[in-house]
Amino acid sequence: MAAVFVITGPSGVGKGTLIAALRERHRELELSVSATTRAPRPGEQDGVAYHFLTEDDFDRRLAAGEFVEHASYAGHRYGTLRAELERRARGGAPVVLEIELQGARQVRAAMADAVAIFIAPRSLEQLRERLRGRGAEDPAAMARRLAIAETELAAREEFRFVVVNDSLDRATSELDEIYLQYTG
Ligand code: 5GP
Repeated sequence: MAAVFVITGPSGVGKGTLIAALRERHRELELSVSATTRAPRPGEQDGVAYHFLTEDDFDRRLAAGEFVEHASYAGHRYGTLRAELERRARGGAPVVLEIELQGARQVRAAMADAVAIFIAPRSLEQLRERLRGRGAEDPAAMARRLAIAETELAAREEFRFVVVNDSLDRATSELDEIYLQYTG
């Protein structure tokens, strides 16, 4: 399999935006669409934002060994389907996964060659503002995400690559350099 990039970091840190910017620069980079049991947000399309699954379907696929990694996060389940990853990597394309910390650890353990990158905010306050600004969650869900974020931030030490998302341009350039190291 060609290069597999794992982008992790707390909710609201801007993982999705950074990945979109990287994919603008590198059209060959495929994004693995995750599975989740959470409800779609307005505008999120099934098969594009996520593969939206019921709890039963998620369980069934988990029992069948269909996930490369999976995790519970803020009351919902998320996971990377092996078939999705393989389909994206077909033809030797590099693939990027956007996943939370527990999943990133599982991928690191299972795929020694995966390039894991931790995206960090400038500060916890910056993260708080971003989550608030996104306004996608009700206050209770947001509080839960912030609490998780605080513990997730401590894990940055585990990662060889840490990109601080203080400015989109600068962070994208840094990500770009890492990308080129493994694909160039
Ligand atoms: P959200 O509900 O905001 O879309 O995602 C919540 C968290 O789950 C984010 O940190 C996101 O990166 C993570 N996530 C999305 N897909 C996956 C996945 O397939 N596996 C894991 N472990 N986490 C995921």
